[in-house]
Amino acid sequence: LLPTVMIVGRPNVGKSALFNRLIRRREALVYNTPDDHVTRDIREGLAKLGDLRFRVLDSAGLETEASSGSILSRTAGMTANVLTRSQFAIFLIDVRTGLHPLDKEVGKWLRRHAPGVNPIVAMNKSESLHYDTDSFAEGAMEAQILGFGEPIAISAETGLGMVALYEALRPML
Ligand code: GDP
Ligand code: MG
Repeated sequence: LLPTVMIVGRPNVGKSALFNRLIRRREALVYNTPDDHVTRDIREGLAKLGDLRFRVLDSAGLETEASSGSILSRTAGMTANVLTRSQFAIFLIDVRTGLHPLDKEVGKWLRRHAPGVNPIVAMNKSESLHYDTDSFAEGAMEAQILGFGEPIAISAETGLGMVALYEALRPML
């Protein structure tokens, strides 16, 4: 049985972009669940990263909750159920905007619904920053406020940092 990794994060951090990069041209399954008048989609695909193979989930359901501003009030629902069955998570943030209040909400949500999951925090859109600038180091420092350890820097769009992601995932999978 393949390990399952869920990609979580507030809207627009690049979850779907990372999902698409990891599954490339392979088919994704889509689960539709009407719940509380909101349709939550979760896409599942087979990820390949170097020699790693895992099931990857794009948590669009969490995004729906986040955008409706009720991320903490809706404790049930498909996303939570699916996350409970995922052993691992990639928690995406947007390095260009810095830490957003909703990122902290997502962190709280993770602790509440998946206390056993210690997510890998990935600063996405890092191709837009230079590694030697203060803004990058500041972003990395700030990301540690989330309490999930040191972040890695990636770009779902360009593929930057996929080796770092591989190295973070490999010991866990
Ligand atoms: P989601 O809402 O978290 O699923 O985010 P999406 O994958 O839909 O991406 C939101 C926006 O960010 C889109 O306009 C993407 O093209 C853009 N985006 C995603 N990943 C990257 C990245 O690595 N670098 C840059 N510059 N933009 C990105
Ligand atoms: Mg998306």
